[in-house]
Amino acid sequence: MTEKSVHGASGAAALRDALFAGADYAFDPFTGVPAGEAPRRFRAAELGLEAPRYCPLCGRRMITQVLHTGWRSKCSRHGSAESAEIDAAREAARDPFAEHE
Ligand SMILES: [Zn+2]
Repeated sequence: MTEKSVHGASGAAALRDALFAGADYAFDPFTGVPAGEAPRRFRAAELGLEAPRYCPLCGRRMITQVLHTGWRSKCSRHGSAESAEIDAAREAARDPFAEHE
């Protein structure tokens, strides 16, 4: 992995930040359709079980690898993201007093 360094909230981390935020995508990460025109997502995608194939920021087709632990996606403009690091960030951000679903 060569994308380990984090340069704030821009550039290489933009994709990761967008996927972490998980809302207000400009483009649907599973179909590449502009937000608002996108059909409702299938359940696996909503649950984050599906690897994103399109950049939610620009709609470009991403290079996506499905790993046995999750997925890794890379946009030529917005950097790369891995499900493991997004899961870890979500875990860290989670309210420790929140109930489990
Ligand atoms: Zn992009």
